Amino acid sequence: MSDSNFEIQSLPARPTQLGSLRILRALPRRPRRMVGPWCFLDRYGPLSFSTEKAMEVAPHPHIGIQTVSWLLQGEIIHHDSLGCEALMHAGQLNLMTAGHGIAHSEETPAANSGKLSGVQLWIALPTSIRDSQPIFDHYPSVPVLDLPAGTITLIAGEMLGHSSPARTFSPIIGADIALHKRESMLLPLKSEFEHALFVLHGDVHLEERRIENDTLHYLHSGRDQLRLTATDDSRILMIGGEPFPESIVMWWNFVARTRDEIAQARQDWIEHQRFGEVKAYRGSRLPAPDLANIAPPNPAS
Ligand code: MN
Repeated sequence: MSDSNFEIQSLPARPTQLGSLRILRALPRRPRRMVGPWCFLDRYGPLSFSTEKAMEVAPHPHIGIQTVSWLLQGEIIHHDSLGCEALMHAGQLNLMTAGHGIAHSEETPAANSGKLSGVQLWIALPTSIRDSQPIFDHYPSVPVLDLPAGTITLIAGEMLGHSSPARTFSPIIGADIALHKRESMLLPLKSEFEHALFVLHGDVHLEERRIENDTLHYLHSGRDQLRLTATDDSRILMIGGEPFPESIVMWWNFVARTRDEIAQARQDWIEHQRFGEVKAYRGSRLPAPDLANIAPPNPAS
């Protein structure tokens, strides 16, 4: 492999707004639309609040993806059109397989710690599964690997002989790495996977290079290990997988293959078809935006 494959593509996350919540969008970015099957990464918090809800995402639909909710601090309550309710704390995993279509809401529960810090991720579903019935999974815990330098929490996939219970459909890795101050960790990688690192907090070097916070650092496939070193207590999110073999079209909360599929899903949401209602949510649902500016399919990689 050429040396250029060991170059790091570093893309600062884009600040944006989700309701009243300020977020950093790390994926998709124009130069990098996917990392393995991962196609969306929002970072929010850390923030403190007193009387107001920190998160208030009214019912909205999804197709063609899995949504992954992961917290470092705080709580989220999920409701969906299957009738599922799940209160999630930091260290727990909410995983929703949208398949053909589902609607959900996510909110800070009334009884809360007053803090919120987390990430929201999406995983594109392969065509063999993307039209399936929706499923919601709550995992009260996932494997935490205790190492001298820190911990590796396996959100998805496998590492060092441990496997996440998370239901996934493509070769994938998702890990939350906690690294103690002045410690270093050598992580084994699957060389057929591409990866990205996102420093959630702290101060981190990848090999000899400092990797800035609030930035997606993309690593091409072909690596079989990487060394992370922390100069302060740090948390790093690592995502990866085999390069996704299909071209996707992403618009609003939908991931499909054609503009027509997107237009149909939008129409179904407007007409109260297909997705069902989130009956547990008090308030109105999110309206579909105008059908414009559909991004072209990402190049099949
Ligand atoms: Mn959602």
